[in-house]
Amino acid sequence: MACYVGVDIGGTITKVGVLNDRFQSVSFATPRSKNELCDGIIGAIRSLGGNEVDGIGVGCPGAVDSSGIVKFMPNLGITDFDVAALLNERMKTKVAVTNDANAAALGECIGKFDDAVMLTLGTGVGSGIVLGGKIFDGHMGKAAELGHMIICADGRECGCGMCGCLEAYVSATALIKRTKQVMLAHSDSLMWQIGDIDEVDGKTAFDAEKAGDPFAAAIVNEYIRFLSIGIINICNIFRPQAVIIGGGVSNQGENLLRRVRANCEALDYGYKFAPKPQILKARLPNAALYGAIAMIKYKVEENLL
Ligand SMILES: [Zn+2]
Repeated sequence: MACYVGVDIGGTITKVGVLNDRFQSVSFATPRSKNELCDGIIGAIRSLGGNEVDGIGVGCPGAVDSSGIVKFMPNLGITDFDVAALLNERMKTKVAVTNDANAAALGECIGKFDDAVMLTLGTGVGSGIVLGGKIFDGHMGKAAELGHMIICADGRECGCGMCGCLEAYVSATALIKRTKQVMLAHSDSLMWQIGDIDEVDGKTAFDAEKAGDPFAAAIVNEYIRFLSIGIINICNIFRPQAVIIGGGVSNQGENLLRRVRANCEALDYGYKFAPKPQILKARLPNAALYGAIAMIKYKVEENLL
């Protein structure tokens, strides 16, 4: 019986899953040092009975390159973390590393889609691309930065230093910033009744829109239009079977997705006259863990490591 391990390193929680004759997982608070993090991962694998392991797949936040070195993990302050070499040395097994958004995209696709793109609308815009049932991460594992596709030349400033990136329009951070701007411009907006300006979150505009606030409706409509433009670009490049939306904003569910679909329909080219992708909400809390396991299993079975 083969035994594969998936690891999902998060800014606060790290999850470890072992797949052999069954699947079991544990999680622990992510330590702030490389050695403690490795100790935690190995301890978790052993606690789940993973002694003879055929391979370990790791999903990490931040900048990962395909040699298995994590250049930088935001929130953890860990740099140049050669996680593949460390785990390989201590567990005597093959290790593959990818960005956590790539792993999550693959996890969401298992058994459902061969070609799909996932966008995570959170603090930033995470993205993962699955083509032919495999993660597509480009040269040195650096692709799939869909949050930084430019949807508006000379547009809003993005945290990456460019202007007009999708992330500057559709991250939760961008939505919150826009909500505050509109509140400050309209003291009669119902959004002021939901909470003070310091309490604005990614739900504020959606909630006020439901209560009939026209200023909130304008924010939400604008947000959905920009998200739809990003999705149309994705469709024109990849023609996926599905675009999967995750992150905090995706909790708006059908109120968001139904309107995104209608917008994509209205934008015509690449949607109306071509196979329509399903536009879906991400469903699996452990998607990155499942994806990390699927990635390593494939790489070991195909002798790619
Ligand atoms: Zn950017």
